[in-house]
Amino acid sequence: MLIVMDSHASAAQADAVCKEVTAMGLTAHPMPGAQRTAIGITGNKRAVDASRIEQMPGVARVIHVTAPYKLVSREFHEEDTLVNINGVKIGGNNFAIMAGPCAIESAEQIDEIAGILKKQGAHILRGGAFKPRTSPYSFQGLGEDGLKLLQAAGKKHGMPVVTEAIDKETLDLVVRYTDIVQIGARNMQNFSLLRHAGRCGKPILLKRGMSATLEELLMAAEYIVNEGNADVILCERGVRTFADHTRNTLDLSAIPFVQRNCHLPIIADPSHGTGRRDKVIPLSCASVAAGADGLMIEVHTHPDSALSDGPQSLFPGQFEDLVKQVTAIANVVGRKLN
Ligand code: PEP
Ligand code: MN
Repeated sequence: MLIVMDSHASAAQADAVCKEVTAMGLTAHPMPGAQRTAIGITGNKRAVDASRIEQMPGVARVIHVTAPYKLVSREFHEEDTLVNINGVKIGGNNFAIMAGPCAIESAEQIDEIAGILKKQGAHILRGGAFKPRTSPYSFQGLGEDGLKLLQAAGKKHGMPVVTEAIDKETLDLVVRYTDIVQIGARNMQNFSLLRHAGRCGKPILLKRGMSATLEELLMAAEYIVNEGNADVILCERGVRTFADHTRNTLDLSAIPFVQRNCHLPIIADPSHGTGRRDKVIPLSCASVAAGADGLMIEVHTHPDSALSDGPQSLFPGQFEDLVKQVTAIANVVGRKLN
């Protein structure tokens, strides 16, 4: 349920409504806007009798939110959420590119690629220190040492960093070194991790599970926002289909769906979305044209010897081309590159 206050309503009137909501055993989420204040209500197990609230001074109307997700829905919050990471903005008209290797492999590797990517126009540096791998025998990441290397490379080359936490223990570590915490596809419905992420104090990049519906993705985001963390960036990274010409099928229609129904920014990851280097530039262009708020791209100086996801990693020269092409498309669709 959403209570919309009259544009002339006083702060005291909004306060009284919140108190009444709390007295009904529900949770009030005041959302002051440019024109008027709205108050979201969660916690109702069944339909709430809104007549008492409708009569209160300053209340313009009460809207029943039909979507199962509440705090992340457009019905609750009309304007786009803008996530600001140390001056790099994602959401609204702002477009940002996250790039870097799948995994941090050494100090030299992450430092070299960070220097190249910064010059080529990347805004945020990515790199995994805790890798969720299909095989326990595959490279699992450098752990805390990797986090230190990523943080140092980000600082040296002037880019915020994003890296994945795979459980509660790694989340506690990751928040000490990163600017954005990534929750990966395999953990999208790890509800306990989502709750912790909602309390960790850092913006979250939430990737769509490989067989998750968009309602499930938005419900996962709801877990994070419900813990008080409104800085959530969603990521379409491809889903499993019968297709065998790609690793996954990048679901571009997810972008306009999410933007219509949810106020959080959504970026696309054509690297994991296709799994093949030759498809990353065309699908990046298509993602921007479809309205994505940003991109996540894997780049490696020596993809053929990469310890993780080499076949989908771009060579730096290809990343340079990608930035040129998506910049041109971003201009056409009214996006502002950071
Ligand atoms: C990654 O970004 O390296 C990653 C493992 O992504 P996903 O969770 O989308 O597979
Ligand atoms: Mn990867």
